[in-house]
Amino acid sequence: MMRRILPLYCAVALFASQNPSTPLPKAVTDCIFCKIVAGTAPSRKVYEDKYVLAFWDIRPRAKVHLLVIPKQHVASLSELDELPVETRAALLSACVRVAKDQGLLENGFRVISNNGKDANQSVFHLHFHVVGGEKLREDAISKDPAGKR
Ligand code: 5GP
Ligand code: ZN
Repeated sequence: MMRRILPLYCAVALFASQNPSTPLPKAVTDCIFCKIVAGTAPSRKVYEDKYVLAFWDIRPRAKVHLLVIPKQHVASLSELDELPVETRAALLSACVRVAKDQGLLENGFRVISNNGKDANQSVFHLHFHVVGGEKLREDAISKDPAGKR
């Protein structure tokens, strides 16, 4: 059995590694966003292309609260260099596109990416929060007064 599967797996891995336009099949099995990409976990999708997916946050904290993610798993912006340049461009374009589709361009919106523990990142698959649809709190940047490292 293994003798049959191993060469097939190696061929797929070799093809993917030699073809930069093919997102690597590196889904992380316990990653909720990889499951959403694979369709094995539900989501309210608003946009999808070859490189990225956008869907509603499960716990929206503004009238509009979407998440834009690369289909390829990387943990955070710290690993941005591991993504093909097409995916990096697609991420930013998708943020603006979904904001436009939600009618946010006129009054404005915020794009946030929490990276690592100081930023309170909770899902370790790179994502951009696109929030708006109402007046947002002025300060989403300063330190947590009760925060300890
Ligand atoms: P972070 O804290 O890492 O910046 O943001 C993670 C976001 O993912 C949170 O806003 C959280 O509500 C959202 N989230 C966590 N699990 C799920 C899920 O299963 N589905 C959706 N749509 N959003 C999720
Ligand atoms: Zn993932």
